[in-house]
Amino acid sequence: MEAGKVSESLEKQVVAWYEALHRYPELGLQETKTSGLIRKALQEMDGMLVSRPTPTGVMAVLRGGRPGRTIAFRADIDALPVQEQTGSPNASAVPGVMHACGHDGHVAMLLGAAKLLSEKRQELCGELRFLFQPAEEIAAGACEMIRAGVLKGVDEVYGAHLDVLHPAGTFGVREGPLLASTYTLSIRIHGRGGHAAFPHTAVDSVYIAAQVILALHGMMSRSVNAFHRAVLTIPQVQASGASNVMAETVTLGGTVRVLDPACEEMIFPKIEQVARGICQANGAGCTVEWKCGCPALCNPTAEYRFVCGVLEDRFGGGCVYEDEPVMGGENFSEFLKVLPGCYYKVGAAPADGKGFPHHNPQFHFDPAALRYGVEACAAVLEAAAAR
Ligand SMILES: [Zn+2]
Ligand SMILES: [Zn+2]
Repeated sequence: MEAGKVSESLEKQVVAWYEALHRYPELGLQETKTSGLIRKALQEMDGMLVSRPTPTGVMAVLRGGRPGRTIAFRADIDALPVQEQTGSPNASAVPGVMHACGHDGHVAMLLGAAKLLSEKRQELCGELRFLFQPAEEIAAGACEMIRAGVLKGVDEVYGAHLDVLHPAGTFGVREGPLLASTYTLSIRIHGRGGHAAFPHTAVDSVYIAAQVILALHGMMSRSVNAFHRAVLTIPQVQASGASNVMAETVTLGGTVRVLDPACEEMIFPKIEQVARGICQANGAGCTVEWKCGCPALCNPTAEYRFVCGVLEDRFGGGCVYEDEPVMGGENFSEFLKVLPGCYYKVGAAPADGKGFPHHNPQFHFDPAALRYGVEACAAVLEAAAAR
């Protein structure tokens, strides 16, 4: 077997881990069976120090036989509230819950890399940490793991995500901003209720809400620099009225995504100013609240170049494509806020050519991608610890 290559038996094991995880998906912070499977698999590997930093998080430490740096790699382990519709014989056995983002594949790949590296422990430098993070989809697990101390003494942290737009054997990497910071936004408009036949005796919070929505969309195009990528969407409008009862209050629920930190500080005071101004002009009160889900994910130049180099050395020139930035969020950004590192994609387009987006009930990927993901992860960890 060539050094660092996944053997046929390890590939079978990795696919078996993925299939077992796919069949029993669990939602964020409820990953008890999932973390049990992970711990059991790690405990059977040579030289792994397995611990449970959070109730459903798992960390395994592998110390190499030679001095070096301490490098961590994160896999997210949670599933989504989606009813699977793939019709696959290995479909989710849990009604209403599905691994529709490929985190089952992420766990299988990191377990595979742990196994591959544990077999050559004496030749490795430094210390390798395998982090299995719960609750990525609800942006709750990364901070919990960090608070539990999983990054203490770590020099760099890496992470990867499957990508169903590119074929197995390719990898997406990008320097700089890649995923947006995410905020939930809530605007509560306090009018005055009344009879719908006598609007002049009331303060119509629905009419005011309509103006606020339009003005906010206008503000995003007029006040944000066109080169600073940001999105505001208000998909929720809740009013307390009836067809003949004017609503006392309206609550607008929305999301704000920002890729360029340069405009982050100006957006929220501006939202508040616009909403308050319109409410005030119409005689209504206004409460504006926003909460950060996760910060923007930005790959630093040095680690971006390092990962490209490792992947090209391992898989040949042409294996790396330039990843596209998107306005989605990723909880891994919390790790990159603390330490340098890089987040990259593992091409996994389905071999049947029927691609469905992540989070779709028919989402599936090419399991042949897993072996490449294992080899890439092991190569990045090994090389980073020896840098
Ligand atoms: Zn997802
Ligand atoms: Zn995901």
